[in-house]
Amino acid sequence: MRQIAIYGKGGIGKSTTTQNLTAALATMGNKILLVGCDPKADSTRMLLGGLNQKTVLDTLRSEGDEGVNLDVVVQPGFGNIKCVESGGPEPGVGCAGRGIITSIGLLENLGAYTEDLDYVFYDVLGDVVCGGFAMPIREGKAKEIYIVASGELMAIYAANNICKGLAKFAKGGARLGGIICNSRNVDGERELLEAFAQKLGSQLIHFVPRDNIVQRAEINRKTVIDFDPESNQAKEYLTLASNVQNNTKLVVPTPLPMEELEAMMVEFGIVEL
Ligand code: ADP
Ligand code: SF4
Ligand code: MG
Repeated sequence: MRQIAIYGKGGIGKSTTTQNLTAALATMGNKILLVGCDPKADSTRMLLGGLNQKTVLDTLRSEGDEGVNLDVVVQPGFGNIKCVESGGPEPGVGCAGRGIITSIGLLENLGAYTEDLDYVFYDVLGDVVCGGFAMPIREGKAKEIYIVASGELMAIYAANNICKGLAKFAKGGARLGGIICNSRNVDGERELLEAFAQKLGSQLIHFVPRDNIVQRAEINRKTVIDFDPESNQAKEYLTLASNVQNNTKLVVPTPLPMEELEAMMVEFGIVEL
């Protein structure tokens, strides 16, 4: 069972990419559990046809320990992917990161991590600027990490920060599997991200183009894999899936000092001096 966490700056496309990636892996015959680790609880929506899933933490609050059982918090989605949303603490109260661990702990106790699973995916909010969202790595749950980024400065800045966090928790076994570029159509984006990934000691695992079919599928409450499996974008997600499936390059990343990161952005013409 491979336990994979997807990180990246907010809005970069983690949930879209994760749902399409898991849908693609499912069509390739894999058994998957997907745990949304974002208080927004929108990590499984397109796999469930728009169903707003009851979160683990909401159920825990309203029903207590006994009320949380797998029938309530695990819903089968596209390709029989088991979908869970961990949810968040009451707004303004408690630590979202701790909430994620509480929720993963409950799922473990309830026996959600069955032997037959090929993958468990975690779609995690934030850029590990706080210890809370590093929990899935810190606690040794997810050992394989992919970071979604684009050619925009803030996305790369966040990806570099995530690598700093990852390097810190490498003792627990966490490794970077690669950078996923979710394109924003920035000039020279592919080259920039290839260079960035290489400097980290890692790789660009796939370049996912920007395509409006993603929005069309989203409005139909579906992943692209489900909405139009013959489309070019579906093929891109399938390529991403097979690259992840065959990936053996798992490294402790070497994050870049800020000056080097900025110099790289200038070199690739993303930022002008
Ligand atoms: P995150 O989970 O990182 O906050 P989302 O996955 O919710 O980000 O993505 C934000 C928005 O970007 C979504 O509404 C989605 O429609 C759009 N999006 C993501 N990836 C692509 C893409 N490759 N092409 C076009 N639109 C995309
Ligand atoms: Fe929020 Fe992070 Fe602080 Fe937890 S550690 S309360 S997730 S900012
Ligand atoms: Mg998301």
